[in-house]
Amino acid sequence: MEGMTNSAVVLADTAAYAVAVEEASQAAAAYYATGESTLDDDAYDRLARGIAAYEQAHPQEVLAGSPTGKVAGGAAVGDVPHTVPMLSLDNVFSAEQFVTWTASLERRIGRPVEAWSVEPKLDGLAVAARYREGRLEQLITRGDGTAGEDVSHAIGTVVGLPGQLAEPVTIEMRGEILMTTEQFEQANTVRTEHGGAPFANARNGAAGTLRAKDRPYTVEMTFFAYGALPLPGSGELAGTLAELPHSEVLAQAAELGVHTAAGTDVAPRTVTTVEDVQLRVEEIAALRASLPFGIDGIVIKADLAADQHDAGSGTRAPRWAIAYKLPAVEKVTRLLDVEWNVGRTGIIAPRAVLEPVEIDGSTVGYATLHNPADITRRDLRLGDHVMVYKAGDIIPRIEAPVAHLRTGEEQPVVFPEACPQCGSEIDTSEQRWRCVRGRNCRLVASVSYAAGRDQLDIEGLGATRVVQLVDAGLVADFADLFALERE
Ligand SMILES: [Zn+2]
Repeated sequence: MEGMTNSAVVLADTAAYAVAVEEASQAAAAYYATGESTLDDDAYDRLARGIAAYEQAHPQEVLAGSPTGKVAGGAAVGDVPHTVPMLSLDNVFSAEQFVTWTASLERRIGRPVEAWSVEPKLDGLAVAARYREGRLEQLITRGDGTAGEDVSHAIGTVVGLPGQLAEPVTIEMRGEILMTTEQFEQANTVRTEHGGAPFANARNGAAGTLRAKDRPYTVEMTFFAYGALPLPGSGELAGTLAELPHSEVLAQAAELGVHTAAGTDVAPRTVTTVEDVQLRVEEIAALRASLPFGIDGIVIKADLAADQHDAGSGTRAPRWAIAYKLPAVEKVTRLLDVEWNVGRTGIIAPRAVLEPVEIDGSTVGYATLHNPADITRRDLRLGDHVMVYKAGDIIPRIEAPVAHLRTGEEQPVVFPEACPQCGSEIDTSEQRWRCVRGRNCRLVASVSYAAGRDQLDIEGLGATRVVQLVDAGLVADFADLFALERE
């Protein structure tokens, strides 16, 4: 599992390296522009690691366009300067790497880290929300970390980011904007009703929505604060924020009325030992599939301001915090076919046949599709690239087609006109289609099969007659055929 997430694309020569750099910068640019990338996160990470490995071996060949060491993969967006750079986080992928990281941090500050804050790494977009005298004035994306884009038009559509704080303070809240699973479903419903293509996943939905202006509809998003810092004019608060432990900064943000992860099952927690960090990491990882929002890891921070101060920051990431990445649970693959299976009660359920893809440690070849209306609503087509989600033991599901990867060769999904099991009519009056024979469907099918030419070859017992016998209650299983009397 860790080996998989940790693996890198192997680049054989200069040409392969150049192609990889080009591919990575295009993906990063597309991702930061619209939230849509031609690569899923895992593929991007593997490519970026391959590029970094090649550069380490061939330092004289490093191209200017390389994403290595750049916030946002070097994608340039936005022109509102950040007061303090909005950095990325370095990653670890295993307990072992985490322990190594803590040791190097403690060596750097020359003492043990006194307390660790452990919190979910929300799978959204980092933003800075500037409050002046308690009023939300400006919303800025992370951009390249030095400057971001003004997305203040989204103020008022983000749950957890109030227009007015509980106190008239001047402060910058930093956090993630995301769509919860429910908001994502709702956004795709509204969007497809307006003739738009559905978002491939919740983060694409949040990215696209945050940047969109003048849409004829609004969709909701949610903010989770992960930090706060002073702005010019913060007054005394500046001194307080500089001294408070991270955990208390979050508590203050919540008191001011800004949403944090405190009320969730994966609430930030402060612990004192590396072992306890690891336990909490495992707890959060286990809760992932059941959360009403997406996380892609766990963030661990030195809690005390003094520890943070002494550790300092590099150009790309602070040295006092790390992202413990969880395996990717979303991958892009192709929808090859849709199968229609009839259940015991006659429900006719569609199932997606996928080009097999490795997700979260297992190979996924099928995904659930709820019902025909769902296929229509998502505008799924055979041959589509689709975003597939799987975490833990849950049944894999298709989030949505990746509409911008369409070639025009995609074919509509063909819906059955008769029950695929017994050939009877289909009751399409409900969202879930059902064979009109209901519980008798399988019986009709098995009796017809048994009576068929290649089996018992019972003359005069065609499909119509079988249906009559079953509907009249004369045949409850195929042994009853032998007990039938002429009447
Ligand atoms: Zn049937």
